[in-house]
Amino acid sequence: MTVIKQDDLITSIADALQYISYYHPVDFIQAMGQAYQREQNPAARDAIAQILINSRMCAMGHRPICQDTGIVTVFLKVGMKVQWEADMSVTEMCNEGIRRAYLLPDNLLRASILDDPDGARRNTNDNTPGVIHYEIVAGDKVEVNVAAKGGGSEAKSKFIMLNPSDSVVDWVLSVIPQMGAGWCPPGMLGIGIGGTAEKAMILAKEALLEPIDIQELRARGAKTRAEELRLELFDKVNRLGIGAQGLGGLTTVMDVKVKDFPTHAANKAVAIIPNCAATRHTHFSLDGNGPAELVPPKLEDWPEVTREVGDNVRRVNLDTITRDDVKAWKPGDTLLLSGKMLTGRDAAHKRMIDMLDRGTLPVDLNGRFIYYVGPVDPIRDEVVGPAGPTTATRMDKFTRIMLERTGLLGMIGKAERGPTAIEAIRDYAAVYLMAVGGAAYLVSQAIKASKVVAFPELGMEAVYEFELEDMPVTVAVDHLGESVHQTGPRIWAEKISQQVVNFDF
Ligand code: SF4
Repeated sequence: MTVIKQDDLITSIADALQYISYYHPVDFIQAMGQAYQREQNPAARDAIAQILINSRMCAMGHRPICQDTGIVTVFLKVGMKVQWEADMSVTEMCNEGIRRAYLLPDNLLRASILDDPDGARRNTNDNTPGVIHYEIVAGDKVEVNVAAKGGGSEAKSKFIMLNPSDSVVDWVLSVIPQMGAGWCPPGMLGIGIGGTAEKAMILAKEALLEPIDIQELRARGAKTRAEELRLELFDKVNRLGIGAQGLGGLTTVMDVKVKDFPTHAANKAVAIIPNCAATRHTHFSLDGNGPAELVPPKLEDWPEVTREVGDNVRRVNLDTITRDDVKAWKPGDTLLLSGKMLTGRDAAHKRMIDMLDRGTLPVDLNGRFIYYVGPVDPIRDEVVGPAGPTTATRMDKFTRIMLERTGLLGMIGKAERGPTAIEAIRDYAAVYLMAVGGAAYLVSQAIKASKVVAFPELGMEAVYEFELEDMPVTVAVDHLGESVHQTGPRIWAEKISQQVVNFDF
C-alpha cells in the first residue's frame, strides 16, 4: 500500500501549473522550430518567430506564455493500492493546487474562470474550479496529467455523431477551415473517435497530452486505423494552406493525434479539440516519496530565431494618426505602433454598447485604436503582465455600432474578422490589425505605461490606456475590406497544390 499525503498532491499540482505557464513542452518547441525552418510565407514565418522568441523569454523570465493562462484540466489515474493521508477530497486537493498556482505572487497568473456561466458570470478570482477526470487503475501510484487550456482554442472544439459509413477525414477537412485562426495555429489536433458523445470528447482531450511524434510515425508507417488517419489528416490539413495565425503557409498543424474506443453499431462519434500556440501540459507521478520533481528544459532546447523585418514595415504614431494615413496601409503590411492605445474586450464592449443607448461613454473613442486584450496583472516592476490579443470575432457583433457611433478608427486583435465586421470596416473606412496570439510576453515588452480608464471593477476586462513603443502588428483587414485571412490561405493552398512551393515535410 502506498500512502499519498494531501500536501504532496497539492504542491505537485501547483508546481506543475506554474511550470507549464512558462515552459512549453520540449517536443513542441522542436516542432515549432522545424515549422519555422520550412515556412516560406514571410508573414507566417515571422509569426512563428514571435512565438518562439516569446517562448524563450517566458522560460527565462518565468512569466506566462500567453495572457490567457487557461482553464485547468487534470487527469488522474489512481492506483488501487493507494491510500490517502488527507482531510480533503482529491477534487478539493486539485483545486487547492490550482488556487495556489494562480495566486503565486512571483508569477501571478490570470484568473479566467467565471461561475454561473449563463447568468452573472462572476470571476471566481483564483481560476478554480478545474475540470478533473479520474480513473481507478491497478498499481500503487498516482499518475497525473495537468493541462491549462486557452479559451480561444477550446472555443473551436467540434463534435459530430456521424453515420457509420461517413468519412471522418471528409468531416475533419470540412470543419477545419470553419475554425478560422482563433485557435492560434500552428498547433495540434486531438481527435476522439467512438464510444459515446462524452467519451469521444474526452478521448480528443487526452490525445493532446501525447508528445509530438508524427515524423517517427511517418518513418515507421501506420499499424492501426488511428495511425493511418493521423498520417492522412496531417498531410491534408496542412495542404489547406491555413498556416500560422491563419496568414497562409505550410504548417497549420505540427501533429494530429487520434484516440479511438469501441462504439455502438449505430454510431460513429467524432470530436476535434485543437491545441494552440500556448500548448501547456505536463505529467508527473506520485509514489509516496514526496511531491513531484519537474525538470526544466534547457535554454539550448530553443532554436536560434531572428525576426526578419521586410521592407513593408511602417512606424506608426497612434497619437497623430488620421483616417487618410490608414488608407495607405495594405493587407499584410507590418506596423510598429507607438503612442496611446485603448483596450477593451467582451464585457467592456457590452457595457459600452449599453451606455451608447443611454448617453455618453466614459472614454472618447474618436480617432482611437482599441486592442482586444485581457492582460495578466503586473508583478514587481512590470508595467503590465503578458498582454497578447484575444479572438477578434467575439467583438464582431459590436463592430458596426462602435465604428458608426464613436468614430473609432481601428481595432487590434487576433485571427480573422467575420463578414459583418469586414463590411462595417469597409463602410467606415476603418482598419483591423492583428497581433500574434501566443506571443503575449513579447508584446507586453512594447507597453511602456498602463492605466485603467474605465470599468475598473471588470478586472482584466477593464478599459486600459496603454502607451506603446514599437508594438508589432500586421494589417489584417484594410479600409477597403480586404482580409489577409481570406487571401492568405487561398494563395498558399494553391501554391501547395500547384507544387510551386516545397511542401515536403
Ligand atoms: S495562444 Fe491563442 S488560443 Fe492559446 S491561450 Fe493564447 S490566445 Fe488563447
